Amino acid sequence: MSCIFCRIVEGEIPAEVVAREPEVTAFLDVQPLADGHVLVVPRAHAACIEDLEPPAADALFRTVVRLAGPVREALGAAGTTIGVNNGEATGQTVPHVHVHIVPRWPDDGAGTIHTIFPRTVKRSLADVGSAIRRAVG
Ligand code: AMP
Ligand code: ZN
Repeated sequence: MSCIFCRIVEGEIPAEVVAREPEVTAFLDVQPLADGHVLVVPRAHAACIEDLEPPAADALFRTVVRLAGPVREALGAAGTTIGVNNGEATGQTVPHVHVHIVPRWPDDGAGTIHTIFPRTVKRSLADVGSAIRRAVG
């Protein structure tokens, strides 16, 4: 098994685990962006969100919801930024789905999700809306 997050889930390599459930494991990021930076991963290996089977997706998001409050409280944070790099083109470095939960404080110097995009929008909302509705079916 070469996937590093599969190996953490199976307990084959060490990690600072904060929650272990049958279908989901949560552990501290080894290079934290802030104190309390947690990664939440499904047991089943899937590279991207859209590769997850529905039960794995349900379990993953339930655990993210369950941990968001305790992570914030444990660190005395004011909020959390929760995000997923979904696919290599987005900068995802570990190809096993993982949700980042990063505690935030006022004036911590970090930006919002909006600050990672240069807003290179070329199409109208109506055009994009109908394209996505067609794809959703
Ligand atoms: P991403 O860029 O979204 O793929 O994030 C991958 C994250 O995994 C990075 O923040 C890494 O610091 C973290 N990471 C990589 N290897 C480990 C590991 N063995 N234990 C904990 N976190 C890890
Ligand atoms: Zn994996």
